[in-house]
Order: sequence, then structure tokens, then C-alpha cells
Amino acid sequence: MSSKKLIEEQFDVVVIGAGPAGMMAAFAAAKKGARVALVDKKEEPGKKLLMAGNGRCNITQDENNIVELSNLYKNGRFLLSAFGAFRPGNVQEFFANHGVPTKVEKNGKVYPVSDKAQDVLDALMSVLKENNITFLYKAHVVDFSLDSENKISKIKLKKRELFPAKVIIATGGKSYPATGSMGDGYEWAAKMGHKIIEPLPALVPIKILEDWVGELQGVSAGSVGITVFQGGKKKFTDAGDLMFAHYGLSGPLALNMSRGIGKLISQSDENIKLVLDLKPYLTAEQLDEIILTDFERNADKKLSNCLFDVFSPKLLDFILRYSGLDLEKHAAKISRKERHILVNLCKNLEMNFDSLFGFEKAMVTSGGVATKEIDSRTMQSKIVPNLYFAGEIIDVDGPTGGYNLQMCWSTGHLAGESAAKNLIDIKA
Ligand SMILES: Cc1cc2nc3c(=O)[nH]c(=O)nc-3n(C[C@H](O)[C@H](O)[C@H](O)COP(=O)(O)OP(=O)(O)OC[C@H]3O[C@@H](n4cnc5c(N)ncnc54)[C@H](O)[C@@H]3O)c2cc1C
Repeated sequence: MSSKKLIEEQFDVVVIGAGPAGMMAAFAAAKKGARVALVDKKEEPGKKLLMAGNGRCNITQDENNIVELSNLYKNGRFLLSAFGAFRPGNVQEFFANHGVPTKVEKNGKVYPVSDKAQDVLDALMSVLKENNITFLYKAHVVDFSLDSENKISKIKLKKRELFPAKVIIATGGKSYPATGSMGDGYEWAAKMGHKIIEPLPALVPIKILEDWVGELQGVSAGSVGITVFQGGKKKFTDAGDLMFAHYGLSGPLALNMSRGIGKLISQSDENIKLVLDLKPYLTAEQLDEIILTDFERNADKKLSNCLFDVFSPKLLDFILRYSGLDLEKHAAKISRKERHILVNLCKNLEMNFDSLFGFEKAMVTSGGVATKEIDSRTMQSKIVPNLYFAGEIIDVDGPTGGYNLQMCWSTGHLAGESAAKNLIDIKA
């Protein structure tokens, strides 16, 4: 290797992983004056970011919708400093300042006004270029060398070597491995002495045993409730937006509930039942009253032509068919008992749990580098002094709604600033 090339490759900070956490870390370090290289094994950055929010990118959660951000995460206390330094409001401001204004939608989800994840990635890329970051793509990191002080002295890539003063590992988790996140960082961290909490798929769709669920494929049901029972005992309840799929349940409610169900499966193999409440904000009596009023208003109509104000057409079609009632019967003739069949179906629709999807469909990974071995004020490793972590590789994860990207922006920003700050302290 020529000496010119060697000097070029002596970066102050090398960030491994050009996902949201790595890109934000590279920006924050360069902004503080560090010479930064951003390394990724893929041919382009932000593959997973482009998939976020179905291509619309739910970049964060509205601060006004949150009581205490950190309470919503696994190991949330670890994130207090990172959130304190770079909150959701800072994220919105950051993107607005770089040409991507944002808007707040239902449940406090923040999206770019353009509804395009590509705009979020483009903004990040132009910020990184403005800050003279060196991009190294198709650069697959394979290993590290440590010196006698247990510091990283060399990063070994498939085709080259780098000699940074500081290293930030932001290689993500194991979900959607085709995006490049295959858990490489866990192996390196473990080799360097870090404890890895077993990585498990999280925020995954739920497979249901009953075939009828497949009839509802593509139907979405807003603001519904689900109660989970295991071995006949009530375990937990949640409410939100649900999407039916040919295999079972998806959408924010199912994804968020998969975290709790995953825990139940790991503790016991007793069977799990899900009870769906299509009208959780109404008591059975209130729903009966609404149905009765609808029947009175449409007394001359057949049952198949009623209840359009109560349920969406596809859901209604299913409920009526599944109820077994005579659809030709006129509303005026429907008995109290028959109404109760409908009410019970809406309030207590039972489904038997089959299984959860794996990493191939997991939005995030739960588990990773143990937080107790990372300094939460800086994201610096407590084992390897010139190593920092950012993003999903750390054992923190949150619900859907922009929380996971927020964690990436905050930990990335803190890791980048800390890595550059310590550098400047050393130089001074
Ligand atoms: C379908 C989908 C939709 C999502 N939607 C949202 C959403 O709307 N809002 C939200 O908050 N969260 C969402 N998430 C979660 C969010 O996208 C992730 O939490 C986030 O991308 C993690 O960022 P990261 O930077 O830690 O890692 P990643 O985005 O996984 O990036 C890691 C990078 O490291 C690189 N890398 C890995 N190994 C190596 C190696 N050996 N050498 C070099 N480079 C390497 C990879 O190529 C990759 O580019 C979604 C996830 C999925 C899968």
C-alpha cells in the first residue's frame, strides 16, 4: 500500500453501517470537525430506511403525543441522555432545515410532507456530502485488530484495511437480512468482550390457525382491541389499528402485540388465544343500542342491507356471513337474541394463535449489545475505549410509530458527537 493511500485511510472516525444510525453518527462526528469515513457492505446506503413506513418513512413520533419517551422502550432508561440531547423535535427540525418538512399524522406518527422515504435518504446524503464524509460502499468489514490497550488499531475489510482513531459500529440487527443487516456487529462485539443479549425477531406479524381470517385479507380495522389469553388466563390487552392478511394479523396493533406474545411463548408452551373486539370503545349494551337503532331506521330492509353506518363494507360482509343469521330477514323481524349474536361476534371474535414470523418479516431485532457495557452518556464501549455503538445493534427496541428510528437518530447523534469530542480532547 502506498504511503499516500495509507494517509488517506487514516480517518479520525470510521462509522460502520450506512443505515439511519450510522448516517446520523457520521454527520454528528464530521460537524464536530472529525475526518469521517462511512463504510457499508451494500452498494448503496439506507436500504432499510427506504422501506420504512411502507416507503413513507415514519421518521419519529410527535413530542406532544408522548408523556415519557424512554418508558416505551426495552432498556429505555439507557436512552435518557441520547433522547435528552437529540429529541423528536430536533429530528423534525434537522430534516426541515435540510429540505424535508414533516407532518404529524394519526397516533403522533411523523412523516415527511412528501410521503417519500427517498427524500429522507436524499437529505441525509446531501448533508453527509456537504460535511466531506468519505463513502466506502461494497466495503464489507470482516474483523478488527486490537492493540495492547485493548483499542481497535485496524479495521479489516474484505479488500482493504482502515486505521481509525475511533470506530462507531452501527450495523443494525438481523431483521430483513437482504437489506444488509445480518447481525455481523454482534459477532465483532462479542469477540471484543461484549455480552450479547440473544437477538430475537420483534414487531412481527402474527399467524392465526383459523382459515376464515384469510377471507379478510387486505381489510383494515382501525381502533380495535385485542386481549391475549394463555392457558385460559387473561394476559394483556391492547388497542390500535389492525390489518388482516392471508396468514393472520398485521398492522401496528399486531406488530406491537407480538412483543408481548413473544415473551409468553418463551415462558410457556400453553396455547394462546386472541380475542378481537371490533368496538373496544363501546360496551356490549351500547353496541346493541346502536345496532337496534340501525335496524329500526332500516326496518323494511333485509339484514344484508343494514349496518352500513356501523361497520366498513368488507368487515360487515364477513360479520354477517360468519354470524349464520338469515341475511334475507327484514331488520324489523330480527330478535334480541339474534342481535346479541352480532354483538358478541363484534366484541369477542376468538382466534387461535399459530406462531410469529421470524427475522425475515421482523421490523426490528430485540436484543443485541448489552446496555450495561455501554456508557449511556456517550455510547462509548466500557470495554474497548475507542469503540462506540449506535442504533439497533444495541439491546433497545420500541413499538411502531417512529420510535425505532428516533432511537437510531438519537444514539447515532450522541455516538458521533462523543467520538469526535474525545478526539479533540486527545488532540488538545
Ligand atoms: C419494513 C420495515 C419498515 C420499518 N418502518 C419503520 C418506520 O416507519 N419507523 C421506524 O421508526 N422504524 C421503522 N423500521 C425500523 C427501522 O428501519 C430500523 O430500526 C432502522 O433501520 C435501524 O437502523 P440502523 O442504522 O441501526 O441499522 P440498519 O438500518 O439495519 O443499517 C445497518 C447497515 O449496516 C450495514 N452493515 C451490516 N453489516 C456490515 C458489514 N459487515 N460491513 C459493512 N456494513 C455492514 C448494512 O448493510 C446496513 O446498511 C422499519 C423496519 C422495517 C424492516
